[in-house]
Amino acid sequence: MRATFMYGAGDVRVVDVPDPKLKQSTDALVRVVQACICGSDLHPYHRMRAKADGTSMGHEFLGVVEEAGVDVATVKAGDLVVAPFAWQDNTCDFCREGLQTSCRHGGFWNSGDVGGGQAEAVRVPLADGTLVKLPVAPDSALLPSLLTLSDVYGTGHHAAVRAQVNPRTTVTVIGDGAVGLLAVLSARRLGAERIILMGRHKSRTDLGRDFGATDVVAERGEEGIAMVRELTGGDGTHTVLECVGHLPAYEQALGVVRAGGVISRVGVPQYSDGDIGWKLFGRNLTLTGGPAPVRHYIEELMPDILDGTVEPGKVFDRTIGLADTPDGYRAMDQREALKVLVRP
Ligand SMILES: [Zn+2]
Repeated sequence: MRATFMYGAGDVRVVDVPDPKLKQSTDALVRVVQACICGSDLHPYHRMRAKADGTSMGHEFLGVVEEAGVDVATVKAGDLVVAPFAWQDNTCDFCREGLQTSCRHGGFWNSGDVGGGQAEAVRVPLADGTLVKLPVAPDSALLPSLLTLSDVYGTGHHAAVRAQVNPRTTVTVIGDGAVGLLAVLSARRLGAERIILMGRHKSRTDLGRDFGATDVVAERGEEGIAMVRELTGGDGTHTVLECVGHLPAYEQALGVVRAGGVISRVGVPQYSDGDIGWKLFGRNLTLTGGPAPVRHYIEELMPDILDGTVEPGKVFDRTIGLADTPDGYRAMDQREALKVLVRP
């Protein structure tokens, strides 16, 4: 089959690899119908060291089950399913606590002998715990929105959940990528009435307003912090959803959060040093966030997509075939595209 591999910074290719096959009785084989490129795929795109045999790519996909192992009970051949960006048993103690990304038996796509979603097919380990059946036809117009359940919508929701966003909390969202925009949508869905979106790209922040942002601040750094403080009577907001992952975004979060507030991070941190001293301690701030257990949220978030209450799939502004994934990476990297959908 054809699959997307990365061989180093800026070096993405679509190559022939052996067809995936069932290995365990708990596996399923899924033919990918839709996949996408993630903002986090751009991190290795910028800094991956050259690797002769490369690494498979993609952790967001939905597709049709081609074959299920004998011990798979919840999905069968022909079912349309969505996969979260991690696989898990969904039964261990961590999974039952809603922390599927810490599953005792789980793992992530593109590691070991498990491939990735930017391919024609994927072997899915622990299919019962990982795959969720979608109650729509494989040609449904809802598919792009349902695809966001595999990562970006669940991740934006996780940022808001970890920050305990509710109708009484004011919110700042840092970042106008797909996760940031869906953090806006999630905060609105959880009842927040004041949502300040910090982002510089007007077409993206316009979509953010559509998703529920009440204010947009294009300035960054000290200037952006001053703007948010001005909008909030000098105090900042109760919650800050940091959806970027770079140190300046964390510093911006420290600057705009209200005393006693919560900074919730879901942008994968590209730094290991940051101020956790008096700036965090002195105002009784809480720092939280991490890899979203999106499997935990799929059943909760799906009904609003099915009945049209929300349309998170609006984050996709370009659709390409599998052969064009190298150009999809380039387009996202150069910010020509917000989020690229791949139809193998
Ligand atoms: Zn588990």
